[in-house]
Amino acid sequence: MQLHWHRRDLRAADNRGLATAAEAGPVLAVFVFDDDVLAHAAPPRVRFMLDALAELRAWYRDHGSDLVVAHGDPREVLPDLAEEYGVDRVVWNKDYTGLARERDAAVRQALDDAGVAREVVHDAIHHEPGSITTNAGDPYSVYTYFWKKWRTHEKADPYEPPTAEQLVDASDLDTRELPTIGELGFEEPEADVQAAGTEAARDLLAAFCEDGIYRYGEDRDYPTKDATSRLSPHMKFGTIGVREVYEATEQAKRALDVDAGTEDDGEKESEGEGDDEKPDELESIEEFQSQLAWREFYTHVLFFNPEVVSQNYKEYEHDIEWHNDPEELQAWKEGETGYPIVDAGMRQLKQEAFMHNRVRMIVASFLTKDLLIDWREGYAHFCEYLADHDTANDNGGWQWAASTGTDAQPYFRIFNPMTQGERYDAEAEYIKEYVPELRDVTANTIHEWHEITDLERERVAPDYPHPIVDHSERREEALSMYKQARGDDEDD
Ligand SMILES: Cc1cc2nc3c(=O)[nH]c(=O)nc-3n(C[C@H](O)[C@H](O)[C@H](O)COP(=O)(O)OP(=O)(O)OC[C@H]3O[C@@H](n4cnc5c(N)ncnc54)[C@H](O)[C@@H]3O)c2cc1C
Repeated sequence: MQLHWHRRDLRAADNRGLATAAEAGPVLAVFVFDDDVLAHAAPPRVRFMLDALAELRAWYRDHGSDLVVAHGDPREVLPDLAEEYGVDRVVWNKDYTGLARERDAAVRQALDDAGVAREVVHDAIHHEPGSITTNAGDPYSVYTYFWKKWRTHEKADPYEPPTAEQLVDASDLDTRELPTIGELGFEEPEADVQAAGTEAARDLLAAFCEDGIYRYGEDRDYPTKDATSRLSPHMKFGTIGVREVYEATEQAKRALDVDAGTEDDGEKESEGEGDDEKPDELESIEEFQSQLAWREFYTHVLFFNPEVVSQNYKEYEHDIEWHNDPEELQAWKEGETGYPIVDAGMRQLKQEAFMHNRVRMIVASFLTKDLLIDWREGYAHFCEYLADHDTANDNGGWQWAASTGTDAQPYFRIFNPMTQGERYDAEAEYIKEYVPELRDVTANTIHEWHEITDLERERVAPDYPHPIVDHSERREEALSMYKQARGDDEDD
């Protein structure tokens, strides 16, 4: 018998580890609740994970098998299960964070000591760390070069889920109940967390590939345009496989060829218009694929630099002298900064355990460059509230915004939160959705919130705060903070 250990791969289809185990078959699936891993979890993610596990278990049961649920240290649980069920080999998919790698090394050792064979395969990303490198064999620190190679590397096809015949008949096994969120020591999340599971992921992917993917390039930066996939928690927990997602994007390209072909034939007879649309739509799909590649880029960065979880990737001459004002940090967390787009984003985070990418960039820039607060505070807060928190992506995003990461935004490029709001939420629809105090205020006034008088602010929205800082002043302070860290003063 083969044992497949599910971790961040809560699906049956397009699961390389599971397919590998099933090939040798029959395979029994297990999930282990590990307190060391749960110590880094937060209610939205635990909710999402439990729902995904319930769906996965139902899938196994529909196929005459089951998902074994265990709680404990995998170094003990897995050898014990191997003995209890007479397992020949344990198979699992690799995880690339520093902590996961340490844990996996210990589990491998424990299985070796117990004389149980094991196989660890690569599944969560298309191209493993070390497979996309500079010509000198080094990992890339600049995304553009990484992307150029990533896009031309061949991608595997999705893996088939195991058949009922390849699964262990679990009718006589004590597979144990799934715990409740309370039994795992977590409260129900306050946020309305999006639906978990492979079915939900596939629905999102199908809907996105019908429509959003073709306007992604143009619309992805606008939070009200609903032009992104919302797949991020699914990518994090592996409720859908990367090959399946990629295949759907390639299918969207093929659909374009078919449509364009039909259109072209017609157009040739008429005015020959319509050809212009094809490159835009194709570019749009590639823009989306490029985001999938960002995820892999950051996974590689974290793999080769596990210390970035707590340290700047980029060395500055001196430490950055963050100001770290606790009241300003609190105002940011609560969405009470008096900068409408920032507050809308921070409130979306609490309400939905999600925030639109453009707004993540704005709030992260505001924390680090307007409030001059250490990116690690922002990262910790995101970690507590995001359903899609992913060490590699979250860290990459924060360090980019703080100008401390790979390929980071230059320290002197500082987002103006008012202009960003005006550009990406011109009608203030997104802002009004999450900041009810501003619902009766015109978009113009919202975008001028920092410029109008206190009296005017109190008149139009008495319950919404005045800006807690002056952006222009803070911009200057940020520049000198970074210059000092760079040692620029000494050079003068
Ligand atoms: C400060 C900050 C923190 C972030 N924290 C996270 C995080 O914890 N988890 C997370 O998955 N993403 C994070 N991102 C990246 C990005 O904001 C989210 O992936 C995206 O908003 C998720 O929405 P979506 O699934 O609709 O994305 P889509 O635009 O539909 O993108 C598809 C997928 O590509 C990947 N992706 C997209 N953008 C990025 C990116 N910039 N970097 C890496 N991968 C990307 C994600 O897996 C995403 O689901 C962060 C960005 C910033 C600026």
